[in-house]
Amino acid sequence: METKEFKAESKRLLEMMINSIYTHKEIFLRELISNASDAMDKLYFKSMSENTGITRSDMAITIEADKDARKLTISDNGIGMTKDELENNLGTIAKSGSLAFKNENESTEDVNIIGQFGVGFYSAFMVAKRVTVISRAYGEDTAYMWTSEGVEGYSIEEAAKDSHGTQIILEIKDNSEEENYDEFLTPYKIKSLVRKYSDYIRYPIKMDVEHEKLKEGTENEYEKETVTETLNSMTPIWKKSKTELTDEEYNQFYKDKFYDYDEPLLHIHSKTEGSATYSALLYVPAKAPYDYYSKSFEKGLQLYSSGVMIMDKCADLLPDYFSFVKGLVDSEDLSLNISREMLQHDRQLKIIAKSLEKSIKSELKKLQKNDREKYEKFFEAFGMQIKYGIYEGFGSKKETLQDLLMFKSSFGGYVTLEEYVSRMKEEQKYIYFASGSSVARIEGLPQTELVKDKGYEILYFTDHVDEFCIQMMHDYEGKEYKSVSSEDLGLETEAEKEEIKKEEEDNKDLFDFMTEKLSGKVKAVKLSHRLKSHPVCITSEGMLSVEMEKVLSAMPTEQNAKAEKILEINASHPIYNKLKALYESDKDKVAEYGDILYSQALLIEGMAIENPVEFTNKICEIMAE
Ligand code: ADP
Repeated sequence: METKEFKAESKRLLEMMINSIYTHKEIFLRELISNASDAMDKLYFKSMSENTGITRSDMAITIEADKDARKLTISDNGIGMTKDELENNLGTIAKSGSLAFKNENESTEDVNIIGQFGVGFYSAFMVAKRVTVISRAYGEDTAYMWTSEGVEGYSIEEAAKDSHGTQIILEIKDNSEEENYDEFLTPYKIKSLVRKYSDYIRYPIKMDVEHEKLKEGTENEYEKETVTETLNSMTPIWKKSKTELTDEEYNQFYKDKFYDYDEPLLHIHSKTEGSATYSALLYVPAKAPYDYYSKSFEKGLQLYSSGVMIMDKCADLLPDYFSFVKGLVDSEDLSLNISREMLQHDRQLKIIAKSLEKSIKSELKKLQKNDREKYEKFFEAFGMQIKYGIYEGFGSKKETLQDLLMFKSSFGGYVTLEEYVSRMKEEQKYIYFASGSSVARIEGLPQTELVKDKGYEILYFTDHVDEFCIQMMHDYEGKEYKSVSSEDLGLETEAEKEEIKKEEEDNKDLFDFMTEKLSGKVKAVKLSHRLKSHPVCITSEGMLSVEMEKVLSAMPTEQNAKAEKILEINASHPIYNKLKALYESDKDKVAEYGDILYSQALLIEGMAIENPVEFTNKICEIMAE
C-alpha cells in the first residue's frame, strides 16, 4: 500500500472545504452523481467508436445507504479509473485552474470559496470523514482502492471489483450541533436531493427502498418488502420536441415545479443552437406572486448544465422588467461548478439572456395580437413592471418595451400606443393623456372636456408610474405625449387665443389681485382656454405635473418637489362675471372666493386641501346667506 500526500494546492483547498461552513453541503450528491454520469458517457462514446456492444441501457447509477454503518455508496458502471488516473484525478485539483483564479482575486476571500472552484469530487469531504473510491478501468483486470480521510493524504492499493466502473463509499460524519448529517443516510432525503439536483441525468439512479406491505392473506398485518426504485425522471420535458407535448403537460410541469395552483398564461419553449446552445422552458404566470412588488421577491430562472441543476434562481438571465417570468434554462456550454460570481461575467450566459429577452418580448407581442383577453390579464398583473422598466432605464428600453404597453382609454377598454396612433384624427398633433386615481375620477376631470369635444382619444393614467414612464419615452413614432392639464393643448385657433388674451388684459387687475392672494399656492390665476362647463381647474407648467407632485410627496425623499400650478377660471361660467363684479364692490369677497375656488380645484384633482374645516364652514356660510 502506498500512502501519499496531496499536492500542496489540493491540500489547501481540501482544508478550506472540510472546515467550510458552506451551507449547501447537500450538493456533494449532485457532484458525485454527475461524475458518475460523465464516466458512463465516456464509456458510451468509447463503445460507439470501438463497437464494444455496450449501450446506454446497460448503464445505471446505484445508491446504497447503510444507516447502521453510516455508509453511503454511489456506484456506476462507467469507464472507471486506472491506478494512475485515480492518482491524477483525485490527488490533484490543478485541472480546473481554480487556484489561479483564487490568487488573482485575493480580495474576494470571503466570497463563498467552494462556489468558485471546480471542486466536484472533493465536496464529498463536506459530509464524510472518510472517502473510499474503488475503481476498475474498462478493459483492465485489476481494480484499485483510493482512500482518504482528508488533508493528511490518501493511500492507494489493489482491490477486488467484479466489473468496470467506480464505487464511492462515504463514511458519513457524526451529527454536530450545526449539522444533521444523519439525514444524508435516509431514503427520504436522498430521494429529494436526487429529484432536486439530478432529476434529468440521462441514466437511471437506482436505490433499494423498503416499503411496508400488507401480508398476503391478512387484513392488517404488514411485512417489509424491498423495492428497487428509479429516483430520477431522466428525460427532461424541455428536451422533448414541442410536437410531443400537450398544453396540459406543459402546464402540469409548471404547477409541479413552481408551486403554483393557477395555470400559466403562456409557455415559451425554445431550443437554440449557434452562438449559444441551450433549451429553455419559460412561463408567464397568471397572477403576480404575493410578494412580487416587494423587496423580498427574487427573480431568476433555474439553470441546468446538461440536465444537472446548478442554480435555483439565476438572476442574470432575466432583466428586471421581465422578472415575472419563471422557468429554466439548460445549456451544455456552462460548467457544473460555475459560481454566482463567475456567472455574472460569463459571456455565454449573457448571450443566452439576450436571446431569452428577445423571445419573451416577441411571445408577449404575439399574445397581445392573438389573445387580447389573456394579454390584458397579463398586463393587469405585470404591466406595472414593464412601465418601471422604461422609467428606470431612463427610456433606454423604450424600443423594446413600448409596444407591450397598454392604457385605459376614453374610447373604452385598453388601447396600445400603436392602436392609439393608428386611429388618431388627421389634424390631431398629440397623444393626449389624463391622470387620476381611477378611471371614474379621470372621466370627471374638467381638463378632459375640450379634448373630448374635439373627438380625440385620451389615455387614462391610473398608475403612479404612468406619467414618469411617458416622460422618459417622449414620443411614439414622432407623436409627442401631451397632458390634458398642460398649459398649451395646441387646440385653439389664433382667434380664440386672441379673444381670451384680450379678456384677460382687460381684467388684469382682477387676475393680479387673485394671484397675489393665492401666492405660494399657485403661480398664477388665468382665464381658461379649455374649460367648457366647469368653473375651474388646476393645470401645471413645466416638467412636473400635479399628478407627479402627488406621487413624489408620498415618498419620504422628495417632499419638496412641487408642480407649478395654474388656477384656470372658465370665462363663460357665471362665477367669472360674479368675480368681476365683486372686484369693483368687495375685494375681500374676491379673495375669499379665490380661496374656495382653489380648494375646489384641488379636490377635483384628488388632492388634499390645506384646511378642510375652514373650507366647509365657508361653503355653509355662503349657503346660509
Ligand atoms: P471534475 O468532474 O470537475 O473534473 P472532480 O473533482 O469531480 O472534477 O473529478 C475529477 C476527475 O476524476 C474527473 O474529471 C474524472 O476524470 C475523475 N472521476 C471522478 N469521478 C469519477 C467516476 N465516478 N468515474 C470515473 N472517473 C471519475
